[in-house]
Amino acid sequence: MRSATSDMAVPLYHRPPKRHRKILHWLLVATGFLVLATVVKLSLGTAEARLVYEIEFQPNETNIKPESTSTVLLPNIETVPVDEAVEEDELQESPELLDSNGHEIHYAIRDGDSLSTIFDQLDIGQTAMYQIISADESLLALDILRPGHQLTFRLNPDTNQLDEMELFIHAGNRVKYHRIADDAFEYEEILLEGEWEPLLFAGEIHGSFYGSAKAAGLTDAEIVTISNTFKEQLNFNRDLRAGDNFQVIRSEQWVDGDPTGQSRIEGFRIQRRNHTHTAFLYEDGRFYNIDGESMERAFRRLPLERQHRISSGFQPRRLHPVTGRVAPHNGTDFAVPPGTPVLSTGDGVVTRVENHPYAGLYVEISHGSQYATRYLHLSRILVRRGQTVGRGERIGLSGATGRVTGPHLHFELHVNGRPVNAMTANIPLASSIPQEKLAEFNALTTNLVAMMEDEALLQVAAQR
Ligand SMILES: [Zn+2]
Repeated sequence: MRSATSDMAVPLYHRPPKRHRKILHWLLVATGFLVLATVVKLSLGTAEARLVYEIEFQPNETNIKPESTSTVLLPNIETVPVDEAVEEDELQESPELLDSNGHEIHYAIRDGDSLSTIFDQLDIGQTAMYQIISADESLLALDILRPGHQLTFRLNPDTNQLDEMELFIHAGNRVKYHRIADDAFEYEEILLEGEWEPLLFAGEIHGSFYGSAKAAGLTDAEIVTISNTFKEQLNFNRDLRAGDNFQVIRSEQWVDGDPTGQSRIEGFRIQRRNHTHTAFLYEDGRFYNIDGESMERAFRRLPLERQHRISSGFQPRRLHPVTGRVAPHNGTDFAVPPGTPVLSTGDGVVTRVENHPYAGLYVEISHGSQYATRYLHLSRILVRRGQTVGRGERIGLSGATGRVTGPHLHFELHVNGRPVNAMTANIPLASSIPQEKLAEFNALTTNLVAMMEDEALLQVAAQR
C-alpha cells in the first residue's frame, strides 16, 4: 500500500511529516487562491471569456481511515465553467442551508467544500459519510461535487440517524443514497432524458476560427471537438479565408421546464470557397461525414495489450467480495499483475484523475458526448486531467489501490451516463454506417443541413 501511494504519478496529496503538513497545506491553499484570482481577473478582462479549465481545490484530509493504512483522500470539490453550472451571482446569494427543518436539511455546495466539512458542519457524523462513500464506489458521483449541486439530508425523526442523502446534480440527474442497514447505504440514480432543443450557432470567419466561433457562442470544448473532427481534412491555420462560414447545431437538454446545463453538438459545417466540410452525430455517439464514413477512430474492446482472465464480470447485482453486500458491479475485472500497462480504449480527454478510499487511484476518460471509460485500482497514473489521449495510449499501470482483495484492473464503459457491459456492448468498432442504416442516416443529415440553413434557429451571428 505504501509503495503504491509513493508510486503515484499525479500525487494529489501526499502525507508528509507532520511538522511540514501545515505549511504544505497553506502553501497549497495559497496557490489555489492565486490561480483562482488569476482566472477571475482573466474572466473580468473580457466579457466573452469563460472559465475554461477547472480549478482543483485541495482535498481535505481525514483522520478516519477505512480498512487500509494508505493515505485516504476525500472527493475533491471543483469549480467548473460558469456556463456549465449556475450563474455566479446566483451562487453568491444562495444560502448554504435552504429551507431546513429538523429532519430535512438542504445544502448548496460552494467552492472549497468537501463532503467531510459538510458532514461536520451539519453534525451528521463521519461514520455515515464513509458508509455513503462506500455505496458510491460503484457510481463515483460524489467525486465531482461542484458549486450548483445540492445535497439534501433526511434524518429519522425518532433516532435522528441519517436515513437518506440526495445529491442534486441537475434537473435530469439526481442520486439518492438510502440507508439499508445500520452500517450500510445503497445508491439509486435518477436520470431523466427530458427534451433536447436544437439551436443554431453560425458566423463568418474573420481572424481565427477560434475567435469567430467564440463570438458565435460556442464553448472551448465544442471548438476543440470541431477542430479535432476535421483535423485530417482541414488545416485551421492555413486553409481558412476571411468570409468562409460555419454553422453548428447544438442541442440543449430541458427537464420539466428547467435547463440542465447539458448540451451536445448534433452536427457542424464549415463552408470554404471551393469546399464544404460537414460532420453529423449519429445515434452511436460518433461523428460521420455526409457519406456515412466515420470521422473518428473506432474503439478497442480491451483496455489491455492482450486478453487476460476476467475475474469478475459486469453484474447489476453482485455480492461484494469485501463488504459481503449485494451491490452493482458496474465494470469488468481483469486479473492482471500489478504494473500491467492500462490503455485508453478510445480517443478522448481525461476528465478525472482521483484517489478514492474504495475505488483507489482511478482515471476517467470522456470519448465524445456519449461514451466514457473508467480504470480503477491503479498503482500509477500516467496522464493528467484535461490531457488528450489516443486509442491504445498508456494511461496508467494496474495495481491494487482502494478496497480490493487482490491486484486487478476494474474497467467501466458508460454510454449516455449509464454503465454497460464493456465486453458485450455494441460499441463502434467499424468505420462507416452499416448499409442497412444508410437510409435512416441520410434522413438525419438532410434534417440537420436544413436546420443549419434555418434562420429561425439562429442564436448569435458572428461577424466581425
Ligand atoms: Zn470491479
